Amino acid sequence: MPEEIKRIYCNNCSRETKHLILSHKKKIEFEEEGKQVVYFEEDNYYLSECMGCESITLYIESTFSGMNDEYFSNQYPPKTIRKEPKWLHRIDGDAISFKQSDKAEVFREIYIALKNNMPRLAIMGVRALLEMVMVEVIGDQGTFKKNLSKLKDEGYISKYQFQAIDKVIEAGHASMHRSYKASSSEINSIMDITENVIESIYINKINVNKINPTPRSKK
Ligand SMILES: [Zn+2]
Repeated sequence: MPEEIKRIYCNNCSRETKHLILSHKKKIEFEEEGKQVVYFEEDNYYLSECMGCESITLYIESTFSGMNDEYFSNQYPPKTIRKEPKWLHRIDGDAISFKQSDKAEVFREIYIALKNNMPRLAIMGVRALLEMVMVEVIGDQGTFKKNLSKLKDEGYISKYQFQAIDKVIEAGHASMHRSYKASSSEINSIMDITENVIESIYINKINVNKINPTPRSKK
């Protein structure tokens, strides 16, 4: 049998790439009334492997009655709009695992929500995560705004980051109370800001602590 190749979005390569079809299963279901087919559905399941990075994706092409033989596609794992930062597992120090860090777990849940097209839940998660971070770093000052001001006054975040988070929080608030749904470019900038702030509070601190110049020994 000749090799079958399809162009499918690869989450690991972050673009559409050639995929080798490892296995293909076609499923057809239909309903009949008398001898007349009144409804049918066709699903083609392709287990595929990216020819660049070898990641595996289940790609599904489907059509049903009324689609005029047009197919639509789905894939699992779903297309990722945003990847977790590589330093995420290091939030609470190099040796800690996800399960031991509430922050890392909440952070990870945000990316899971984004992967599964749940932007409102993701933004609410961002708000909750920032709250956890602030209370941990400077103690609870009573309100989000006061926590944020103290974070700035103590030099953990810049004036620019302060203003940016303020906007993120407004988005979080709107997601909760006004059923606001952020667009994907808004989500990307919210995530840029959030990652930026958390990296500067936790990861840069770890990196600074690693720099430990040994005094020169005297001859
Ligand atoms: Zn790939």
